[in-house]
Amino acid sequence: MWEEPCISGIEGSGTVFFTGCSLRCVYCQNNRISGSFSAPGGEVSVGKTVTISELSDIFLSLQAQGANNINLVTPDHFMPDIDTALNIAREKGLLLPVVCNCSGYESVDSLRKYYKNVDIFLTDFKYMDAELAGRLSKAPDYPEVAKKALSEMIKLVGEPVFSGRPSGTDNINIMKKGIIVRHLVLPGHKKNSKEVIEYIAENFGDKVYLSIMNQYTPPAYLFEMPEFKDIARKVTKREYTEVVDFALSLGIENAFIQDGETASESFIPDFSV
Ligand code: SF4
Repeated sequence: MWEEPCISGIEGSGTVFFTGCSLRCVYCQNNRISGSFSAPGGEVSVGKTVTISELSDIFLSLQAQGANNINLVTPDHFMPDIDTALNIAREKGLLLPVVCNCSGYESVDSLRKYYKNVDIFLTDFKYMDAELAGRLSKAPDYPEVAKKALSEMIKLVGEPVFSGRPSGTDNINIMKKGIIVRHLVLPGHKKNSKEVIEYIAENFGDKVYLSIMNQYTPPAYLFEMPEFKDIARKVTKREYTEVVDFALSLGIENAFIQDGETASESFIPDFSV
């Protein structure tokens, strides 16, 4: 239920979390499942193995439960098998849009090969600052990879399309196709956030939706790592407001902005599998 309103709606989004992540940011909120390199032990501690056939059944089960979409969370490194599972599920009656909830660190080649079943990209755009990307995600090429990936995603799914039908009782329009670019504001790094937002506004305008997120919560282990002292705190209201005001000053209208105290550890799922 914690995705953007046009993804979750009233019924909820059918999230399937995939173990591991190709980016492995040091501050990952889901480090127990993503295997962030600095999580205790540096290893993935939850997850279970399923076959391609079982995965297709999971997708169909989520449809039967009334989910608004199938939401693949950090799927990149499994995408060839997921694509096969989606093809099987489509043959068996899967009609829901497929959301790809990813890091933005995808190659154009893999997007072309394995993401044809994706209808909506719910993609991060984390950094324009290569030094910051290198330090926090060991990926100094992130800005260049993410720029190319976003251009390719637009070629794959096109501009936003909504259901035009009420979902539940709140008249929420559910997204059927399109792109939501998520940007998580990091403490002390407003300049990076503004550069990301400026790039999106200048290059993609209203072809994408922008979600500016304030829910950054430092994992406990960061407090023991002096080299990451700058990000061992939450984002202040003042920092977040300055970033949002900057986006609004650029004329960005298609935006999701978070109100109030959303930076809470309760937003971190408890993976108990
Ligand atoms: S891209 Fe997202 S899920 Fe992956 S490690 Fe970074 S914060 Fe975690």
